[in-house]
Amino acid sequence: MNKRYLVALDQGTTSSRAVIFTTEGRMVGSAAQEFKQHYPNPGWVEHDPGDILSTQIESLRAAVRSAGIDPSEIAAIGITNQRETTLLWERDTGKWLYNAIVWQCRRTAPIIEKLVADGYGDMIREKTGLVPDAYFAGSKIKWLLDELNLRERAKKGEICFGTVDSFLAWHLVEGHPHVTDATNAGRTMLFNLHTQEWDDELLSILDIPREMLPEVVDTAHVVGMLREDLLGERIPVAALVGDQHAALFGQACFHQGDVKNTYGTGCFMLMNAGQEFRLSKCGLLTTMAWRLNGVPTYAFEGSVFMGGATIQWLRDEMHMISTAAESEPVAASVPDTGGVYLVPAFTGLGAPYWNMYTRGTLVGMTRGTGRAHIVRAALESIAYQSRDLFSAMAQDCGKESPALRVDGGASANKLLMQFQADLLGVPVQRPAVLETTALGAALLAGLAVGIFKDLQETAQGWHVADSFTPLMPKEKRDELLTGWHRAVDGALHWAETNK
Ligand code: ADP
Repeated sequence: MNKRYLVALDQGTTSSRAVIFTTEGRMVGSAAQEFKQHYPNPGWVEHDPGDILSTQIESLRAAVRSAGIDPSEIAAIGITNQRETTLLWERDTGKWLYNAIVWQCRRTAPIIEKLVADGYGDMIREKTGLVPDAYFAGSKIKWLLDELNLRERAKKGEICFGTVDSFLAWHLVEGHPHVTDATNAGRTMLFNLHTQEWDDELLSILDIPREMLPEVVDTAHVVGMLREDLLGERIPVAALVGDQHAALFGQACFHQGDVKNTYGTGCFMLMNAGQEFRLSKCGLLTTMAWRLNGVPTYAFEGSVFMGGATIQWLRDEMHMISTAAESEPVAASVPDTGGVYLVPAFTGLGAPYWNMYTRGTLVGMTRGTGRAHIVRAALESIAYQSRDLFSAMAQDCGKESPALRVDGGASANKLLMQFQADLLGVPVQRPAVLETTALGAALLAGLAVGIFKDLQETAQGWHVADSFTPLMPKEKRDELLTGWHRAVDGALHWAETNK
């Protein structure tokens, strides 16, 4: 039978999805299942590993049904995942030993504070490209080993650590391979991006035995065959890739300087930084874009904490709109914000500012300021923050990218996209397939099994559906940006005086 389809398993923070594509990159079916979030203590976030597994298997089966295809027509499966989320299980039985500790969980902040106080910050940054933070898997593993008293068993090789890609591969692939790919390994704070190996010094400062770590493979790599009982067919599982890296691939950002921004709850901007490791001078992370045939490609990464979440805040807390989509007509009912700026630093500011103490500020109001001005300022704040990342990337890369490729829920907002293009001074391009994360994983799997002979062939399905051309005169853009940066300075100053 003709192998015409590629499947992505997209295991996200709130739901598990499966998406079926043709080998030309056209979507023919999908299914998703949400699962429960657990918050056992303030600032703690966990998932039940059994939920992750069962929702992923269910959505795979449902997607195959919805597409009306025969499993024997599937050429390969790629797995993409919420990053950094940490699981431990027993090597003999596969039994998990605790809930998955989710990337958002802050319980290990004291471990990171101690590492930094002990002077390890620069070394961590040099080796991993990351800023030491509780977000990454390393401190979560240490916490689990301490809490569950598992270090001796781990040393004997009885315990496996994995991020979600690794956990799914173990459970879904014949023979239980204990593997992860370089993009996921790069988010543990234990992986040396220069040597492309787990790093003894990093392992020792967190007291993590090497015996518990998975083998690190290329991003496009056949890790084994899908268990036959799942779909009644053995199918190569041929890619493991972190979600943001998959989206960069799905956006065909194959050349150094190509940038994508995903406008979801937060915004994640990644730029292809080429094959030479460089640290950012502007507070961005250096991360793997992907590793193919043993050759790493790097990326710069920055995130906006409050992206679409700012719109949720307008809806749920301010009651200024009743749906996220309504933000567009409300904002469009006024020509501009009338000098109002919202700095939505509700949880601090990330790159390029990195200030965890900043809080939200709304400035520039007059007696004439109304709801529409504030809604517009909230939308525009997403574009300003993204523009700050874009220019940080341009500085680090030495040249400005000729366009920004966009996806994610809030990229549906035309006013936001037009304002983004106006602020950047380069076109904003929205592709036909907005499921770029799933597409990237599917294409990487296709690459591994030889459906595509090279990167260019995988990009054949990528084309721009909507392009937003900058229309704003440069003087106007400069004036707005000056206002925005004054507003950010105000928020930072507030944080300074409020400590
Ligand atoms: P995630 O994957 O993080 O859950 P999505 O990509 O599904 O996010 O996007 C959802 C986010 O986008 C929400 O925060 C929502 O407020 C925002 N959003 C959705 N549609 C619009 C819109 N038309 N205008 C502005 N924001 C939107």
